[in-house]
Amino acid sequence: MPYLPDPERYTKMKYRRCGNSGIKLPAISLGLWHNFGHVDQLENSANILKLAFDSGITHFDLANNYGPPPGSAEENFGGILKRDFKGFRDEMIISTKAGYTMWDGPYGDWGSKKYLISSIDQSLKRMELDYVDIFYHHRPDPETPIEETMNALDLIVRQGKALYVGISNYKPEEAKKAIGILKRLGTPCLIHQPKYSMYERWIEDGLLDLLGNEGVGCIPFSPLAQGMLTDKYLKGIPEDSRAAKSHGFLQKDQITESKIQQLVQLNKIAESRGQKLAHMALSWILKDERITSVLVGASKPEQLADSLKCLDNTNFSEEELNSINRILSN
Ligand code: NDP
Repeated sequence: MPYLPDPERYTKMKYRRCGNSGIKLPAISLGLWHNFGHVDQLENSANILKLAFDSGITHFDLANNYGPPPGSAEENFGGILKRDFKGFRDEMIISTKAGYTMWDGPYGDWGSKKYLISSIDQSLKRMELDYVDIFYHHRPDPETPIEETMNALDLIVRQGKALYVGISNYKPEEAKKAIGILKRLGTPCLIHQPKYSMYERWIEDGLLDLLGNEGVGCIPFSPLAQGMLTDKYLKGIPEDSRAAKSHGFLQKDQITESKIQQLVQLNKIAESRGQKLAHMALSWILKDERITSVLVGASKPEQLADSLKCLDNTNFSEEELNSINRILSN
């Protein structure tokens, strides 16, 4: 049976405008960093994508190096698109990135024009796409002049290989420069993708203000701290969890006894709100209207369905926020 998306999908999701742009993104977007490589089960990956699309998730986030092996998430995604999502390309925002190590030698890493142009060409080939919707510079390059990197992003849009551009992992000062250069070039920065969760709050120190003032969207990654901000590690490390997998980026030693104590307390607040910890961690991010979308990962469709329940309650009382801050400062 060919896949037919749920006709009710757009009534299930909330969409938020991305900065001052014409684009709206779903409040929850799906990231393909883990669970979409050649090491993973293709049908499970396809089922996660179908559940996402059926739930109104229109935005899928990739990068050249996602896998493992690097490049395989783009390959698998392209294959699934071709097989199951024929005719739906115009309902999707597909993003990819370059900036981390991708191939050997001096031209397969960081932020030169040479790397970015070669990389987008490779990504389009792997996904069998004519263009991506958003192309990001994945991390700032301390050696390449930022003008060269931004010029490359502008060129990629002018070549029709991407519709919009973004930056990721840029600190406020670097982001300000990049946004200014892109504005002068006539290819405004659509969005910034920073790491942000209850455990990682650096963007509250200047970046969110900058993005809000400049009309640039914000899509935080690893909002569940790679799964730690859920109830899954409260009683040890489950065998099928990211922390247990040899190719997972979450290390067992990051799940310390003191973290577990904090999680137990956060879990109690979540319960008092009628939520699970995962829901509360996501809705805590969405409470700020400068956040366009939250970029989640999922290792199975049921997990994504669970995370989507965060949309039922994104309001927090002063008392709840203070209690959360008190726990996090311990
Ligand atoms: P999360 O913090 O959302 O972690 C996702 C993981 O948490 C899942 O794979 C799963 O792990 C677990 N999980 C998810 N939902 C639940 C749930 N409801 N209950 C219990 N466990 C759950 O995000 P990621 O770290 O995966 O990052 C999301 C996306 O952000 C990436 O796919 C990528 O697109 C982007 N990203 C961007 C980066 C950048 O530099 N720009 C860097 C990193 C990520 P498990 O395997 O344990 O089941």
